[in-house]
Amino acid sequence: MAVRGDVVTDGGAVRSPVRPLTVRVDVGGTWIRTESDGVLRRSPAPSRINHPGVPAPVLVDRLVEHLVSVAPAAGGQVVVSLGAAMDDVTGTVRGSGPLWGDWLMDRDLLGVLRRARPDVVWHVFNDVTCGLADFADAVPREAGASAGYLTISSGIGLKIADLGTRTVRVDENGLQGEVGHLPAVLPPELAGLGHLPCECGGVGHVASVSSGPGIARVAAALGIGAYTTEWFRQAVDAGDEGAHTLLAVVTRPVAEVLRTIWVIQPWVVVVGIGGGVVEGVGGHYRTALLRHLRGAGSYAAGPADAWEHRVRLLDRPGADVLRGAQLLAEGALVVTRAQEADHRP
Ligand SMILES: [Zn+2]
Repeated sequence: MAVRGDVVTDGGAVRSPVRPLTVRVDVGGTWIRTESDGVLRRSPAPSRINHPGVPAPVLVDRLVEHLVSVAPAAGGQVVVSLGAAMDDVTGTVRGSGPLWGDWLMDRDLLGVLRRARPDVVWHVFNDVTCGLADFADAVPREAGASAGYLTISSGIGLKIADLGTRTVRVDENGLQGEVGHLPAVLPPELAGLGHLPCECGGVGHVASVSSGPGIARVAAALGIGAYTTEWFRQAVDAGDEGAHTLLAVVTRPVAEVLRTIWVIQPWVVVVGIGGGVVEGVGGHYRTALLRHLRGAGSYAAGPADAWEHRVRLLDRPGADVLRGAQLLAEGALVVTRAQEADHRP
């Protein structure tokens, strides 16, 4: 066997790169994106959204089969961004509305993958943590300050990192920022939307109204028969009144989440906002958010112009969760239990 350039040859055949091959996978509620050998492939996710009649445990098994099938040769690694509530410290998965509906689990996904292919290094991280890692990489290190990342797509999630210590503190279940399943704050005239269902099995949640599927539910409730995601994107761009009313309604609960963050944690200097919904609507999304944030202010929320600096819309294609997963695998951000961080000497 001889090394020629960056390629290991064995009897004349190119066998594998010297550096272990990395496969990067983004598992969302609608699509799985798999990047291998510099090529990005997209396939339908084994999710509740795509397969509403299939039991959740079967969907999890199909996901494991997919991940094992794309794993590289021995010595390589797989980094996974997973659109599920999970413990980033242990790799244990708790649940995901878009992927598995209201099924709650306590599944050691990382352990399952390691047992299936022990010759490969596995890293699995929550997709919002991945988005945060990518976003925070561009925010300067600052002691005492924090930065957040909020994703609005088939689900809604938030995570906040300490910019000084580069840590993400989670609770004893490994969770932080599952804001999509908080009650949606809506004005009295829209109280009827509080009965809309959520993928998690609840009703009246932020995701019931503001996630991708939530926007479709609100459009139906408001009688906007023309609604499709493509119509929404184009109609908002064209200044359509109905589309802008819809945008104002679905951004309201998100604005209230942001307002709550800054009232409770004023050291959060910036929140990056990304995800499929935001990428579709573009700059109009931030404009609608800022209108809510400035409009219903009180002394508690600080000066109105402060929102300008705090809300950053991520340029297309939003946070790069594939890059973020890799950064987490390299330790750029470290996820720690809140209790452990508290008791650090
Ligand atoms: Zn929910």
